[in-house]
Amino acid sequence: MAVIPLTLTDEQRALRDGVNDICKRYPGEYWRELDAKREYPEAFVAELTKAGYLGCLVPEEYGGAGLPIRDGALILETIHAVGGNAAAVHAQMYIMGTVLRHGNEEQKRAYLPKIASGELRLQAFGVTEPNSGSDTLRMMMNHSTNALFFDNVEIPASSLIGEEGKGFTYILDGMNAERILVGSESIGDGRWFVEKAVGYSGQRVIFGKPIGANQGVQFPIAKAHTAVVAAALVRDKAAALFDAGEPCGPEANMAKYLAAEAAWEAANACIDCHGGYGFAEEYDVERKFRECRLYKTAPINNNLVLAYVGEHVLGMPRSY
Ligand SMILES: Cc1cc2nc3c(=O)[nH]c(=O)nc-3n(C[C@H](O)[C@H](O)[C@H](O)COP(=O)(O)OP(=O)(O)OC[C@H]3O[C@@H](n4cnc5c(N)ncnc54)[C@H](O)[C@@H]3O)c2cc1C
Repeated sequence: MAVIPLTLTDEQRALRDGVNDICKRYPGEYWRELDAKREYPEAFVAELTKAGYLGCLVPEEYGGAGLPIRDGALILETIHAVGGNAAAVHAQMYIMGTVLRHGNEEQKRAYLPKIASGELRLQAFGVTEPNSGSDTLRMMMNHSTNALFFDNVEIPASSLIGEEGKGFTYILDGMNAERILVGSESIGDGRWFVEKAVGYSGQRVIFGKPIGANQGVQFPIAKAHTAVVAAALVRDKAAALFDAGEPCGPEANMAKYLAAEAAWEAANACIDCHGGYGFAEEYDVERKFRECRLYKTAPINNNLVLAYVGEHVLGMPRSY
């Protein structure tokens, strides 16, 4: 039976502290420099991998930590809550799910240990239509999106996962994990914005009092916090169902939607309360603002989440 835990266990607190320790070595300056140079967070990813965090969902028998998705979510949430960005690497955690759930034993032995150790990088997958996301100059955040062309590529029969013709179903199968994990990054972003906004609006004094004493500043921050907390609760429900092996499509999708919207609300409250400083790079607010916006669009745009909820949860006519 799925149970939603309302507090972290001692092990989860230790997990969070461990991730935090790594993140402390990669402060705002590190992310700002990467952002300016449009570079991949090589050193950060190497440390996360070495510590086993990216292979945390791979079962122990294949070299991973065999943790539940709630713990994977905690890792990603923590990175984002302290100002980092796991977007470039989060897929390493979950794309392997297709091999894990549908691959044969030989394929699992061939790929999973290498994914767990980081020897094999599996951080993107080719699902979106060919003309999407291919213009790298589109990009306002530090992501490189590229078009891949497959022309007469021959794939050995041994590479076929599961049954021929069922590939897309297998991918859909893995989407719930993606929604829960990516939603957790938004929750982390939301927490970061709220904390930053509370801190700044408490110390910035204008007209003789901290700006946070004004309802016009305080309420948007309080409202965003409320939205983040609510999104986290739905995410926890989705993760609990997922870990119990129960259907969780509605909860995983709604968690992703709520989390992305909550983070965006928090981002706006944060940039608003910072006034002009919200646009100063050294505050990290504008960087996080750009980074968190991604999740309203990818890995699935929020309109399509609503289309899913309308059709599959509420039984309304298909809208697309
Ligand atoms: C940084 C980044 C990394 C990515 N990584 C990957 C990856 O690893 N693998 C991969 O396959 N893809 C990847 N993507 C692509 C991503 O999944 C898509 O960009 C996303 O799903 C949106 O699809 P699209 O760009 O085709 O937008 P479109 O589908 O063209 O949508 C454009 C706009 O129209 C709206 N819209 C479209 N149809 C409807 C409708 N029926 N009803 C209402 N609104 C609608 C959408 O909400 C959106 O606002 C990545 C994208 C980014 C930006």
